[in-house]
Amino acid sequence: MTSTSLLWFRRDLRLGDHPALAAAADHNHRVLGVFVADDVPLDASGSPRRAVLARTLAALAQAMDGRLLIAHGRPRSVLPRLARAVDADVVHVSADYGPYGRRRDEQVQRALQDAGVEWVATGSPYAVAPGRVRKSNGERYAVFTPFYRGWTDHGWRKPARSGSGVDWVDPGEVDGITAHDPQEYARTVPAGMSLPEVGEQAALDGWRTFRDEALDDYDGDRDRPDRPGTSHMSVYLKWGSIHPRTLLADLAGRRSTGAASYRRELAWREFYADSVFHLPESVWTSVDPVIDRMAWDSGQPAEERFEAWRAGRTGYPFIDAGMRQLLAEGWMHNRLRMATASFLIKDLHLPWQRGAEHFLEHLVDGDYASNNHGWQWVAGSGAQAAPFFRIFNPLTQGEKFDPSGDFVRRYIPELRDVPGRKVHRPWELDGGVPAGYPEPIVDHADERAEALRRWQQRG
Ligand code: FAD
Repeated sequence: MTSTSLLWFRRDLRLGDHPALAAAADHNHRVLGVFVADDVPLDASGSPRRAVLARTLAALAQAMDGRLLIAHGRPRSVLPRLARAVDADVVHVSADYGPYGRRRDEQVQRALQDAGVEWVATGSPYAVAPGRVRKSNGERYAVFTPFYRGWTDHGWRKPARSGSGVDWVDPGEVDGITAHDPQEYARTVPAGMSLPEVGEQAALDGWRTFRDEALDDYDGDRDRPDRPGTSHMSVYLKWGSIHPRTLLADLAGRRSTGAASYRRELAWREFYADSVFHLPESVWTSVDPVIDRMAWDSGQPAEERFEAWRAGRTGYPFIDAGMRQLLAEGWMHNRLRMATASFLIKDLHLPWQRGAEHFLEHLVDGDYASNNHGWQWVAGSGAQAAPFFRIFNPLTQGEKFDPSGDFVRRYIPELRDVPGRKVHRPWELDGGVPAGYPEPIVDHADERAEALRRWQQRG
């Protein structure tokens, strides 16, 4: 009997440029591809992220002619059982560097070792694996710019050859394991939410369109939520429908400032993953604990204001448009992620973790490293953060980055008839704030002064 490799898919849900798949196919011609639906991360994922995962799995299964086995349970018990069932001598994976993934993989490796099955990790969801870029003395980089230099100098492989020609084992041949339908893991998404197209082909199509039509202008347009200036690759990078190496290989041939700027943004994703690799507790704990010693609000009216922020009803149109974009699409433009986070922390005086949780609940690209460190960057508590006293002004942010008001009008129907940039200050309109839209829940100038006062009085 020919022996079989097991390829355990996790955050690498694609067939192209997949080093672990190439390694599995090289090792044994026959490969059983499996995704294990594990309740621990699933239960921690909001319904938009679960829906996207389910659809991404369905797209992958289709690309494999239905030969993707979706098993349910704890990986440490499912994988040894599967290996036994198909007589596999090896399990191939792309390494996972998240705190839960690392703990889980240690347990799985022990269980496989007991069963006499080899574990081979090839590649990761990053161009350079977290932990690999270090200072000459072996320490981690705590600051982005030198990390970026070290990361660029380290370099990355060329895209791996594709996994076509693999002899996938038919899951129907595997005895004693129940195969599941990906849709079982999709929870109903909030009414009215539209999700992006998913899967490897959608990722490649989206990337090529962006590369050919918008990349060269990225440097100027990436801050403009009213323009289609960013790539929307985050949801695909989250699940590995596309690998950053594929994007970097295309950037290599381009000399535009847009391409240079895009490479730098990809490096932020790698920097945050590296920070979490070295400081796993920093997912929910402030890297700089000084921020936790500040006075934060609780009870009323803080909770009511938190609800207004979540619903996009703060009375500040730019902030509300961002929060409603999140509810409508499960995605928010980066400029808005920064502005709405600053508003929660510095205008409403609520701890960054509350906002990070809300984002993770709704974002289709929700990622602990990029999200929680993005929040810490805004809070001023992160690995390399903006200082606390950098407080985004919700009015001037809107006027600068949405100068004609088109972005606000797209998401706030109550303000649809307000022309031009006036839409950013509805309380200055002749007829007052249009019906149905709230008055500002706080005064930005007062709350800015209050935030700075609390900062000065921190312990
Ligand atoms: P593009 O501008 O096209 O950027 C290309 C890619 O570069 C992105 O897909 C992403 O992988 C990476 N990137 C860009 N900016 C950043 C950044 N600041 N930090 C890390 N990576 C970056 N990104 C996530 O992928 N998941 C999150 O959960 C997440 N939460 C965030 C929360 C806050 C408070 C902030 C300030 C930022 C967060 N980001 C997060 C980073 C960034 O906002 C998104 O990656 C970006 O908006 C995704 O859209 P895009 O793919 O069109 O980005």
